[in-house]
Amino acid sequence: MKLYNTLTRKIEEFIPSSPPNVSFYACGPTVYDFTHIGHMRTYTNNDVLRRTLTYLGFKVNEVMNITDVGHLSGDDDSGVDKMEKGAKKYGKTVWDVAKFYTDFFFKTTDALNILRPSVTCKATEHVQEMIQLINRLKQNGFVYETPEAIYFDVMKFNSYGKLSGQKLEEKIQASREEVVVDNDKKHPADFALWFKRVGRFADHTMHWSSPWGEGFPGWHIECSAMSMKYLGETIDIHSGGIDHVPVHHENEIAQSEGATGKQFVKYWFHNNFLTVDGQKMSKSLGNFYTLEDIEKNKIDPLSLRLLFLQSHYRQPLNFTWQSARASLEAFNRLKEIATNIKPHNAPTPLKSTKAIAFQQQFKSAIENDLQTPQAVAVMWDMIKSDITNEEKYFLLTDFDKVFGLNLGSIVEEKIDANIITLAERRLEARRQRNFDMSDRLRIKIEKAGFKIEDVGDAYKIKKI
Ligand SMILES: [Zn+2]
Repeated sequence: MKLYNTLTRKIEEFIPSSPPNVSFYACGPTVYDFTHIGHMRTYTNNDVLRRTLTYLGFKVNEVMNITDVGHLSGDDDSGVDKMEKGAKKYGKTVWDVAKFYTDFFFKTTDALNILRPSVTCKATEHVQEMIQLINRLKQNGFVYETPEAIYFDVMKFNSYGKLSGQKLEEKIQASREEVVVDNDKKHPADFALWFKRVGRFADHTMHWSSPWGEGFPGWHIECSAMSMKYLGETIDIHSGGIDHVPVHHENEIAQSEGATGKQFVKYWFHNNFLTVDGQKMSKSLGNFYTLEDIEKNKIDPLSLRLLFLQSHYRQPLNFTWQSARASLEAFNRLKEIATNIKPHNAPTPLKSTKAIAFQQQFKSAIENDLQTPQAVAVMWDMIKSDITNEEKYFLLTDFDKVFGLNLGSIVEEKIDANIITLAERRLEARRQRNFDMSDRLRIKIEKAGFKIEDVGDAYKIKKI
């Protein structure tokens, strides 16, 4: 499979460290507010990548973190803690806020049929691992202490900026405008590994003891500590939104490689933005949509998934309600087709060269840096073609292993097992050209209230 790697800025052949295993770390949500459709797009694309790798025979071990402490507003550590802000806003404890929004996050990803990670890990449950990692960085000389915090010294890490291609001098320029709260910080790009419970954080609710006194971890350190704990020191894939490239992921690389001296991530996978009506999503513009808005507008979340599949993950996607409704129509048509062509007997392997060619086209689309728009087009071409319904159904469910639209599990009218047995016997009789027997069995099925229809070398049963 070929995959674009943000680190090398190239599409590369994907070769994991120990095939067929793939270690995959996904930057998870900060659970201080409702997850929105922009996040949904990112996690759908992660899911499509995971399903594609599985489809191609890899074994994926996905770990995702839940940020429930330490994520400050503002990338330069100057802001307030998002969790504490969320708690104040809703008059709840930080722990309640974390639980509520974590539940909402998974309710959303479940509705979009996004597979749950093998491991979901919370930052608050891994503070000891973070302290250990900070100690390791201290031993390696990457850390300095101020009265307010423990910082990572970016000037000591030679390749800082390699992911975004941003030079440190440019970062100084960019940061000059911003407020640097801690005057003891040596470089504006230095970032906090540990905040002490002093000054602006004297009342911080979440705090732990550490060699530097009571306090709480910075945001970035959790991803390095947890990916190392669950996936080892070098991982195959790390995903996130492109907004994470210049700061969060740069910092993760600095921390991890500063501690281990080894390459942290082989392939960086970044998702592009989602805009709404051509604008950035924001609460003030009233275009900040969540699963609830999608459902209120009677849009099936799975049709939103189909909409996401129709744009490439590295391209921005502009969401409009019109595009969502068009996608819903297409999705309903697809479900109807799947129900109509579903055979009752087990699908047989593909026979026709045409059907095999469709499968090949689909595979090359997804293997080529996840060209999902092309893969969706192959699906519609296949549906419109003259291959048998049985082959169409086989391919539809095969493609759905990657698309994740749940087409294979469409609930049909309940048909009794004894009717199926009669239908199977009738199919066998037809195969042996025993038409007398086949007719008798058809009459029996009809008397029981069902209509049987032949579809190539298969059958379809409907209630009369
Ligand atoms: Zn992260």
